[in-house]
Amino acid sequence: MNDISTKETLGFQAEVKQLLNLMIHSLYSNKEIALRELISNASDASDKLRFEALTDKALYENESELKIRIDFDPKARTITVSDNGIGMSRQEVIEHIGTIAKSGTREFFQKLTGDQARDTNLIGQFGVGFYSSFIVADKVTLTTRRAGLTAEHGVQWESDGSGEYTIETVDKAARGTAVTLHLREGEDELLNGHRLRSIIRRYSDHITLPIVMKKEEWQKEEKQDKN
Ligand code: ADP
Repeated sequence: MNDISTKETLGFQAEVKQLLNLMIHSLYSNKEIALRELISNASDASDKLRFEALTDKALYENESELKIRIDFDPKARTITVSDNGIGMSRQEVIEHIGTIAKSGTREFFQKLTGDQARDTNLIGQFGVGFYSSFIVADKVTLTTRRAGLTAEHGVQWESDGSGEYTIETVDKAARGTAVTLHLREGEDELLNGHRLRSIIRRYSDHITLPIVMKKEEWQKEEKQDKN
């Protein structure tokens, strides 16, 4: 590989491109799926950290309180899901994100019928994974650092879902992964504390970690509700 500190542009595997296209066009009415999948990934990442830390306590970096955090920024029109789980190295990002279409995802797409009710049911049965971010986002930025590596080994991955992604080494003080969804035009209804909380409540039944959101000011919340 080139000097790992440089910014690289890499291509998705052809099949991933196909899947992304299908996902965006067939699942657009299931906007909540993206958040469900990101929360589920954050939870898995925390489980992995707990597991690895059984034999290497240092991975906690003196922070063993694991949690998921959800932020939204109405001005920037972004939603960010962050965890302080295991994180990923640069190589792991390349291997896990954007390279290979999971067999489960492929099977899922083969089963899609075009019937919204039936397909929504299917989505419940299959995890459609990280790529579902592109249902609501026209750009996704993932920043991560693997537990145990130093801050300068952070990695930033970014893509508009059209076939390529960039990857570069960045500083990241906090261990774990943050995924920022830059929302598509017309998806602003998600930029609302009430709406997000209700989605989180619906999809986090089985999640044992705390999911935290910054408390909004009462007045701001009221203004949003009137819009
Ligand atoms: P799945 O979670 O079903 O394996 P995804 O497409 O959602 O499929 O994610 C692919 C892989 O990317 C995961 O298996 C994991 O290795 C990695 N990954 C995704 N999100 C995170 C995260 N928040 N922290 C660490 N690794 C992650």
